[in-house]
Amino acid sequence: MRPKGAGSASNDCVIDMRRIYMDHAATTPVDREVLKAMEPYFTKKFGNASSLHSFGFEAKKGLETARTQIAKLINAYPSEIVFTSGGTESDNMAIRGTVKEGDHIITSRIEHHAVLNTCSELEKHGVEVTYLPVDSHGLVSPADVEKAFRKNTRLVSIMHANNEIGTIQPIKKIGALCRKNRILFHTDAVQTVGKIPIDVEKMNIDMLSASGHKLYGPKGIGCLYIRNGVRVNPLITGGGHEHGLRSGTENVPGAVGFGKACELAARYMGNEARRLKQLGNTVTRAALEIPDSRLNGHPEKRLPGNINMSFDFIEGESLVLRLDEKGIAVSTGSACSTKSLEPSHVLIAIGLKHMQAHGSLRITLGKDNTRSDIDYLLEALPDVVSSLRKISPFKRKEGGRF
Ligand code: PLP
Repeated sequence: MRPKGAGSASNDCVIDMRRIYMDHAATTPVDREVLKAMEPYFTKKFGNASSLHSFGFEAKKGLETARTQIAKLINAYPSEIVFTSGGTESDNMAIRGTVKEGDHIITSRIEHHAVLNTCSELEKHGVEVTYLPVDSHGLVSPADVEKAFRKNTRLVSIMHANNEIGTIQPIKKIGALCRKNRILFHTDAVQTVGKIPIDVEKMNIDMLSASGHKLYGPKGIGCLYIRNGVRVNPLITGGGHEHGLRSGTENVPGAVGFGKACELAARYMGNEARRLKQLGNTVTRAALEIPDSRLNGHPEKRLPGNINMSFDFIEGESLVLRLDEKGIAVSTGSACSTKSLEPSHVLIAIGLKHMQAHGSLRITLGKDNTRSDIDYLLEALPDVVSSLRKISPFKRKEGGRF
């Protein structure tokens, strides 16, 4: 396990209450080493990476080192990494940059909205889209992907792991089918880069989206891996930065931080994944002892440290707020959709009823979470669930009381 670092949640206003952050799928704290690597690029090495003087050269060097660190983590060439502002932009670039009117896209019903809303926008402009269903664990079937191929299929976009339920897709198989049929394959790997191994060669990936803030790097920086030879039209035109694919003065401190985060992830990923898996299993086992509860997502093929549970007869939002009162930060679904009153599209896609989907809780563990944090959570959770059920407007069918 890594030493406790910058990630320990602290709050200047609340002195006495213990605060535990367990919402790492939403975002992660910046690692101290990452912050240290970034700092000179705000103050001393602040040059514009395009400038033809020593300040510019220093900045350029930082940018290229970062590109190499990111490429190494996913077994790509540095020249195949294009910096963006984050996962959302990378998804947009992969999709909008490769399809045109009359083309067909295959994606799944459980993608992040960065993919789903981009696809539905394109449908208004003459692009056809197939949204594949998933099974009750959230898995896309490679056979379904193959069946959906058409003459005009230009792109398949299937996420590596889901941000809500953590299910890991059979990316390698889907990629192989795409390659065989000469169809581009994009994967949104925002939740997996730095968490589980990725090899773009072995996994037959043509384009891959990643985001710095999900792996202890800064916010506002991400990248799109684009395999050499794949043609992508830029979304942002201007001075021709990033080989003409993404214009705009580069966010050098952000890129340096993202690169450092990838270097650290490569070093710690294996042990950390094993540790998080163990902690996650402990939480799941104990939480399943609460009556009328279930684990959402795949029991095995899931991101280490992702626990998504449904507790019947209560609202996920109330659960999140009550846990927050005890200093525990968790989530109902994806942070991006918490403003919506609609139940999670992912939980509905795996077959949950609206009431069950509304009663969902996502706990995503990270590097600073310890066994003692888990004990604290497991002490609080059963009481919070039972107190909410006592005031629940939902009734058990058999009329039993809580
Ligand atoms: N894709 C997935 C799977 C995500 O989980 C997220 C963020 O939660 C995004 C894309 C968007 O990434 P960003 O916040 O960097 O725009």
